[in-house]
Amino acid sequence: MIIAMKSDATEQEIADVCESIRGYGYTPHLIRGEERVVIGAVGRGDNKDHLQSLRSWPGVADVVPILQPYKIVSRELKQQKSVIRVGDLEIGGSEFIVMAGPCSVETREQLMETAEAVKQAGAQVLRGGAYKPRTSPYDFQGLEVEGLKLLADARSRTGLKIVTEVVSAEDTEVVAEYADILQVGARNMQNFALLKRLGGAGRPVLLKRGMSSTIKELLLSAEYIASHGNNQVILCERGIRTFETYTRNTFDLAAVPVLNELSHLPVVVDPSHGTGRRSLIRPASKAAVAIGADGLIIEVHPRPHEAWSDGAQSLTPPEFAQIMAELRNYVKLESRHLNI
Ligand code: PEP
Ligand code: MN
Repeated sequence: MIIAMKSDATEQEIADVCESIRGYGYTPHLIRGEERVVIGAVGRGDNKDHLQSLRSWPGVADVVPILQPYKIVSRELKQQKSVIRVGDLEIGGSEFIVMAGPCSVETREQLMETAEAVKQAGAQVLRGGAYKPRTSPYDFQGLEVEGLKLLADARSRTGLKIVTEVVSAEDTEVVAEYADILQVGARNMQNFALLKRLGGAGRPVLLKRGMSSTIKELLLSAEYIASHGNNQVILCERGIRTFETYTRNTFDLAAVPVLNELSHLPVVVDPSHGTGRRSLIRPASKAAVAIGADGLIIEVHPRPHEAWSDGAQSLTPPEFAQIMAELRNYVKLESRHLNI
């Protein structure tokens, strides 16, 4: 339920409404808009009629149900777009954010070389997997804590923020110790134990869409994280599995405006996994800007042919720099800016 307060409601009236929401077994989520406060009452409380009765309370303008199954992350509850702060960086604001780096952290040299190059080209966040969810158990599984330490060194050296994947609930705390943003991979989008744990991680989460997941399922996974205490969620479209085989996945661009309609959370696009082909990253990135994405996450490797994972979709540093230079004009057309 949404409890819309009157524009002149007092702080005491707001506090009283929150208190009674708790009393009915729901959790209040306060959203302070420019004109008025809106309170979302979510959870499995004992009686919706109790919430309806709040309509006659002092300071309350209206009580309306949230129709979507996801509540906290829905546009119904919060009309204004959310801006996720990562230190001095804002994701979902006027700056278009680019996260770039290797699929996997391989060696110190590989990571530092990539970090310097993507920083130089204008990226704000360094990506790189230290824990890798691989289809085959015989493929490289990641450097784990050693990789996290290298990422932290790259951050000290370049000032870039770090996004890296957490593959299991037990690793959440150690990854959160080193990373600025915790990535949930496509294969883990419905790992509910992990999503619940991320609710208490104290770090923003980049939630990737599962390769066979609907938009509704993606939003319900975001709701898991938010309802467990962390509403700092960034959604990521990374392509879905269809009958098409030419591309690694089918890049579902329409998901971006759909997510923007249904949710207030920022939306980032991953053209690397979305297409699986180096030659398609440039057009797919431009399309992502034009269709309303808040940022991109792109794989870059100094020597893609030597990459331990995802070489075929990784850009070289010069290719990445070229795309960044071109994107600047596209971003301007969307009334955004790219910090290069
Ligand atoms: C990755 O970012 O390298 C990755 C494994 O992505 P996804 O989970 O989208 O496949
Ligand atoms: Mn990858």
